[in-house]
Amino acid sequence: MKHAKLIIVGSGPAAYTAAIYAARANLEPIIFEGFYSGVAGGQLMTTTEVENFPGFPEGVTGPELMDLMKKQAQKFGTKILPEDVVSVDLSKKPFKVNGSTSHFTTDSLVIATGATAKRLDVPGTLDGQFWQKGVTACAVCDGAAPLFRQKDLYVVGGGDTAIEEALFLTKYAKHVYIIHRRDELRASKIMAKRALDNPKVTVLWNSVLKEVTGDTVVRHVVIENVLTHERKTYEAGGLFFAIGHTPNTGFLNNQIDLHETGYISVKPGTTRTSVEGVFAAGDVQDAQYRQAITAAGSGCMAALDAERHLAHLEVHV
Ligand SMILES: Cc1cc2nc3c(=O)[nH]c(=O)nc-3n(C[C@H](O)[C@H](O)[C@H](O)COP(=O)(O)OP(=O)(O)OC[C@H]3O[C@@H](n4cnc5c(N)ncnc54)[C@H](O)[C@@H]3O)c2cc1C
Repeated sequence: MKHAKLIIVGSGPAAYTAAIYAARANLEPIIFEGFYSGVAGGQLMTTTEVENFPGFPEGVTGPELMDLMKKQAQKFGTKILPEDVVSVDLSKKPFKVNGSTSHFTTDSLVIATGATAKRLDVPGTLDGQFWQKGVTACAVCDGAAPLFRQKDLYVVGGGDTAIEEALFLTKYAKHVYIIHRRDELRASKIMAKRALDNPKVTVLWNSVLKEVTGDTVVRHVVIENVLTHERKTYEAGGLFFAIGHTPNTGFLNNQIDLHETGYISVKPGTTRTSVEGVFAAGDVQDAQYRQAITAAGSGCMAALDAERHLAHLEVHV
């Protein structure tokens, strides 16, 4: 079994940024970039234009940005393995990391496996249909795109996130409709009031999304009233899923503390987890911001935290 000073699991902005910092600090990081667990390169591989990552005044495509980050990590000597981590043993040091084919012991571990936006299995919303052609799961990321401006936009959900996304979209939309299956919002009272008081937001109570249709982009949504089973077709410029995220932590097998919501719990202001020497960065520990730049920022923090940990262990760096 080979040994590494630092292993980074994941391949989004958090993982590559951690690798850039760690490699420049001579930690000789090894990245398990994932294979079956998600697209190597992370969530931005599934989007087109990224307009809010600093340094790209003309915008950059998600895959292009991730390719540049990967190259920058490799330039400083990061070794990248096209494998999933399937299990870890954090019960004693050095930790054990088992990939699909490679096996390592390591002095420190950065977990940067992201979170997957939940979507509904509704006709028209899937990959190869209107996903990323008007159907998305991130209003803050995509809401300002020309495609959605001055259009009727639909948000699926009923919790605080759905309300936040709907309110954010009112800046650009003609009107925002929240599709909610019950007759009361799950969101906190204050958030619910904000939505209900906003003249640009309408909640479609007792309603579920049945289909999304269009041509090259979304044009209509079909919505069913769950009480009457009546179906109506509405004009729509976009559909936003806001039904939560699933942090990718299965391979940890409950060996570090998670929040109730499944996100990794870190000590405030750091990337330190409940296990000394294990750090978490990016969306997997961030229920709140979930942006490329915040993921990258916490990746930098994780590398610096790992470097301090290794210096403390007197691992030769
Ligand atoms: C459609 C879409 C558009 C977006 N647009 C923007 C935008 O314009 N601007 C912006 O700032 N943010 C945007 N975001 C959000 C942004 O993509 C995320 O905040 C960011 O990618 C999170 O980075 P991360 O490093 O935490 O991990 P992720 O990007 O989630 O990457 C994690 C990766 O880790 C790998 N992985 C998972 N499990 C394992 C395992 N067991 N072993 C090995 N590897 C594993 C997978 O390959 C996974 O893809 C968008 C998100 C989506 C879905």
